[in-house]
Amino acid sequence: MMAQILDGARVRDAILDECRPRIAALRRPPGLAVILAGHDPASEIYVRNKVKACAELGIYSEKLTPPGTVATSELLAAVDELNRRKEIDGILVQMPLPKHVDSQSVLLAVSPEKDVDGFHPCNVGNLVTGRPGPKSCTPAGVIRLLRYYDIPIAGRHAVVVGRSDIVGKPMAMLLLHENATVTICHSKTKDLAAVCREADILVGALGRAAALTAEFIKPGAVVVDVGINRITDRAEVERIFRGSKEKLEAFDRRGGVLVGDAHPLDVAERASAYTPVPGGVGPLTIAMLMANTVDSAERRLR
Ligand code: NAP
Repeated sequence: MMAQILDGARVRDAILDECRPRIAALRRPPGLAVILAGHDPASEIYVRNKVKACAELGIYSEKLTPPGTVATSELLAAVDELNRRKEIDGILVQMPLPKHVDSQSVLLAVSPEKDVDGFHPCNVGNLVTGRPGPKSCTPAGVIRLLRYYDIPIAGRHAVVVGRSDIVGKPMAMLLLHENATVTICHSKTKDLAAVCREADILVGALGRAAALTAEFIKPGAVVVDVGINRITDRAEVERIFRGSKEKLEAFDRRGGVLVGDAHPLDVAERASAYTPVPGGVGPLTIAMLMANTVDSAERRLR
């Protein structure tokens, strides 16, 4: 049987469509401030896309772009001012911050009620204890995707590969709240393939291109691939895609190809359903950021 492709763009559109009437019902537009320090090219693209999503949805956005030499104290002052401003409902500090900056103290300075990324320890605590509050966008988007496609979670064994604060840990916690039996794996896990083969729902969030090959995937499993890895070596593209002419042509045109953490050919063969890369989990993150910003505006304008 052909595996079902879990299309993230459809779920993104559904999430954004839910936001529109909620925004229209507010007495002022929700406001999101983004701090982008320095000139990290990937961060610049992410922030541009976030600002664009705000504009399309009618969310007021503001971008602060301090130079890469900005001091921690200056960033703390900027966050402090945003915390005070009434028309700002969400504050996002784009990571990574320049190396000399104390990132943890900047993230801690964001008021938990405006922490639309769900990174503040208060909101991590809210997540763990099942209290309302903003949840990390990518994992929250994955739950929305599983619900959208009516994929049962309760009672199933979910294996999350990766334990980062922004993806792996909150993902595992959200799956637990959905009554999955959850296993978290990481770089020290022994016989990772054997553990992954136990998964009814396998979430790849390790950031290793095509690492989850056939031997990691139980036949019929649902595979959610969070990984986004850009491959810039032609020989690797040839190896992963087993000489696919189409992929090699794409590589020659663009100088790179995106691959998830799951092996793109093996997952299509073994899973019952899976998220492709690109087009699976990717579109959900910004949509959930928008939803978190609307949630925050609603709470603050109540
Ligand atoms: P991260 O902070 O680098 O964490 C990676 C995790 O994977 C760590 O817990 C690490 O274990 C584990 N790991 C690494 N290599 C492993 C291996 N060989 N076997 C088992 N576990 C291994 O990455 P992240 O920020 O969570 O992101 C993960 C991936 O998701 C990346 O590709 C990133 O680009 C992507 N991502 C996508 C979105 C989206 O919107 N779709 C959003 C965020 C991230 P240790 O803890 O033991 O080191």
